[in-house]
Amino acid sequence: MKPVYLDNNATTRLDPMVLEAMMPYLTEHYGNPSSIHDFGGPGRVALARARSQLAALLGASYESEIVFTSCATEATSTAIHSAVTLAPEKKEIITTAVEHPATLAVCENLERMGYTIHRLAVNEQGALDLEQYRALLNPNVALVTVMWANNETGVVFPVPEMAEMAHEQGILFHCDAVQYVGKCPISLANTAIDMLSCSGHKFHGPKGIGALYIRRNTRFRPFLRGGHQERGRRAGTENIAGIVGMGAASELADIHMPMMQSGVVALRDRLEQGLVAQIPHALIMGKGQPRTPNTLNMAFEFIEGEAILLLMNQVGIAASSGSACTSGSLEPSHVMRAMSIPYTAAHGSIRFSLSRYTREKEIDHVIEQLPDIVSRLRTLSPYWQEGKPQAAITQDFLPTYG
Ligand code: PLP
Repeated sequence: MKPVYLDNNATTRLDPMVLEAMMPYLTEHYGNPSSIHDFGGPGRVALARARSQLAALLGASYESEIVFTSCATEATSTAIHSAVTLAPEKKEIITTAVEHPATLAVCENLERMGYTIHRLAVNEQGALDLEQYRALLNPNVALVTVMWANNETGVVFPVPEMAEMAHEQGILFHCDAVQYVGKCPISLANTAIDMLSCSGHKFHGPKGIGALYIRRNTRFRPFLRGGHQERGRRAGTENIAGIVGMGAASELADIHMPMMQSGVVALRDRLEQGLVAQIPHALIMGKGQPRTPNTLNMAFEFIEGEAILLLMNQVGIAASSGSACTSGSLEPSHVMRAMSIPYTAAHGSIRFSLSRYTREKEIDHVIEQLPDIVSRLRTLSPYWQEGKPQAAITQDFLPTYG
């Protein structure tokens, strides 16, 4: 059996049709789209088409609301930079404690510069408290920036409602929708979201291409200045092949959306139920919350996620512990900590993220292999004895987070 790839929140396989669409722009159509001569033409046409494909996936009102960037990290940095540059007198930002580092690190930098960063807390299920949010909205807030879906747990936040609440107070709203775009239907035209970041490689497009949606009439200051590309909103010669790839991936994501919403959910639920039925002391992160169709995060108590990953890798299963970006560090991720997941569970959390390429036999392979891996590791765990947790283990006894 071929290795089973269940790490699609880290990155996805390039759709062969996307590669096919990109190839001419890596070979014969190498002209610069800004050139007046004929070599520039194909790139210009391709750029316009990709813009309309992505605008359609996002349900944007106008194609011109799409600005292509090098990745979602750049899009998010750009959005935050624009908001604070436009309103230098406003010194507060509202975000959440569970954002991706692309948002958290920019906010930390602003904090060092004197900004007050409000990081909304989440409960044990990963849900936000909208009353806490409402209480923080005030005229000194330059921007609210909240992810639509969490990369580690798949928990979906009520972003449209939060954007409305920000707008009622005249506050700009940005959304990191990297894990939501291509998995769930979006109709930006019907929301109050002002800016939104997304990334091509999370929905079977190429790496190195992202986009920032900027609602028409939203005041904006560019981050990258220089040439007049992207209507002066993002300087730098366009990555035409990448843009074409993201456009083609957008169209395909739209076509496959019903499959994401039914087939992929069914496989995810099969995995969840199959594991829960066989593995005691396994907790589902974000249980009871709306989650993206492809994500299952489970914590196997009393063992280390890294050890589970290594043993799964030996039997051809690829997943991740915490988020791909933070694995390698031994502390539980900031998301697990924000959710107050007990120490012995947070350490054993594994994220399985599926895609439209995931097959039932692959899910069944995981259901077959993982119970044995978990029980083998538990026999080595200091917290486990004779088939059950050690009696002495109580929350007071356990180490707390560093
Ligand atoms: N935001 C979220 C929620 C993500 O999951 C990621 C990537 O994992 C990013 C932002 C960064 O995306 P990119 O790698 O395209 O910059």
